[in-house]
Amino acid sequence: MKMKMKHAKNEDIPLRIIPLGGLGEVGKNMMVYEYNGQMLIVDAGLMFPENDMLGIDYIIPDFDYILANRENVCGVIITHGHEDHTGAVQHLMEQISAPIYATPLTRGLLEVKLAKGGMLSRVQIVTVEANDEVEIGPFKVEFFHVCHSIPDGVGLGITTPAGLVIHTGDYKFDHTPVDNWPTDYAKLAEFAGRGVLALLADSTNADKPGWTPSERVIDPAFDAVFREAPGRIIVASFASLISRMQQVANAADKHNRKMAFVGTSMVENAKIAKKLGYLDLPDDLQVSIDQALKMKPKDVVLMSTGTQGEPTSIMGRLSTGTNRQFDLSSGDTVVLSSHPIPGNEESVYRTINRLFRRGANVIYDRVAPVHVSGHASQEEMKLLIHLVKPKYFIPMHGELRHLRQHAKIGVELGIPVENTAVIENGMVLEFHNGEMRMGERIPGGYVFVDGSSVGEVGPSVMREREILANDGFVLVSLTLDRHSCKLRTEPEIITRGFVHEPDAEDLLARTRQIIGEAVNCTSNGRMQEDLEQSVKSFLYTKTKRRPMVFISISQA
Ligand SMILES: [Zn+2]
Ligand SMILES: [Zn+2]
Repeated sequence: MKMKMKHAKNEDIPLRIIPLGGLGEVGKNMMVYEYNGQMLIVDAGLMFPENDMLGIDYIIPDFDYILANRENVCGVIITHGHEDHTGAVQHLMEQISAPIYATPLTRGLLEVKLAKGGMLSRVQIVTVEANDEVEIGPFKVEFFHVCHSIPDGVGLGITTPAGLVIHTGDYKFDHTPVDNWPTDYAKLAEFAGRGVLALLADSTNADKPGWTPSERVIDPAFDAVFREAPGRIIVASFASLISRMQQVANAADKHNRKMAFVGTSMVENAKIAKKLGYLDLPDDLQVSIDQALKMKPKDVVLMSTGTQGEPTSIMGRLSTGTNRQFDLSSGDTVVLSSHPIPGNEESVYRTINRLFRRGANVIYDRVAPVHVSGHASQEEMKLLIHLVKPKYFIPMHGELRHLRQHAKIGVELGIPVENTAVIENGMVLEFHNGEMRMGERIPGGYVFVDGSSVGEVGPSVMREREILANDGFVLVSLTLDRHSCKLRTEPEIITRGFVHEPDAEDLLARTRQIIGEAVNCTSNGRMQEDLEQSVKSFLYTKTKRRPMVFISISQA
């Protein structure tokens, strides 16, 4: 009787799927599964800023929806250790007190991150492994292994009172992964046997036909680089690409070079991966950067971060000759073992040009297969859908074009169009009696992290930074006579980033004249604003540019 009542009640409660990040963009992945008010959060990632977001370190999801009911969060699952899945964890855990569930390597990488913010002792982390089954609030979560460009990634089978939902996380179907642990095909097929209500799957490469090459194709490319490099080798990659560290270590071992990690995040991640057994790096293979710099260039390989052209990264500093610890020399070979994140192409290729200019030979993924994607391509996506046989299909992790393309693949494979949902951040989906419907819209925007401040930089600050960067500024200082309200001296004008002053004599003289005419003390409070406005519109009519204009008025 009791069972029956519970069942009747269940039918009134929908399962809600709430994307807070990673749908409609690449990065800051975060999904909420909500049932009867209880929330299970999957991933809490960051996104790197685009070129026009000036001075922003990174972007995290808008957590407002979670924070409004923070006591109802029953758990946070982190699928793997990449920044776009972990990078907002410290910001989230400052505000909620649910446990984190993660596999051993992911946990180790999270601990490094939480320790930096002094958060480690405050956060409860539960270690889980592939094939574990854990009850988290109203959800029963089964973890299954997936291949990706970092070891120990998992996907999730989430049994909810409304049905079974599969959440892939980032995955590929690599038959020969670096750690010899392929994606768990059998588990995916087993889920299908039980009946899958909905599949949420990684769409990053939905516009790439065919199969993503195995990580193994990198080995011969590295082998060739190590065989031919006349001097020092510097491999740049992401600090969380643990599999790539292993491949560099293997090549170093084979070609009798010692290996050193450069940069705090690289050193820390390598240490934790090695300690936990995910990085096989014999003690006599690894040396410190100080030791490496004393050795013959031909005997070492350095591994560092900075593949995205970030000016403050090691690669960025090497490219401009401003790295403190060491410099590039001719004979160095630089390998960029990564792919530019969309939006970063320009700065990456600028960095490559500078590295060449400084005498290094640069090898990047366009000239040799020194990088492969960690994400499934179209044929793997098809295999996934056939294995899982979901009733409903929801593409995730990708820009809108990726999500649409992925949905199209689903439809080609026989999923009815009305059973696919292309949704973006903040668009809630509800599952009720086995049917899907759109829920309400909630905030799904950006929160900018700038240095140590979170969310204090809003769109207006971004707009100001953009104006400053594009059109510069004009600073006008006026000294007015306290009694007569006349200008005591000519207005002083300083410009930066706007015009080449010696060429703009006429423009600036005319600006001074306009200011002289517009000085009007009768409306004292508004004079500054009015002056700024008239200078702005005058400069715009003359130059078609909109610099920031500041008027500073003193009285004497
Ligand atoms: Zn990933
Ligand atoms: Zn990802």
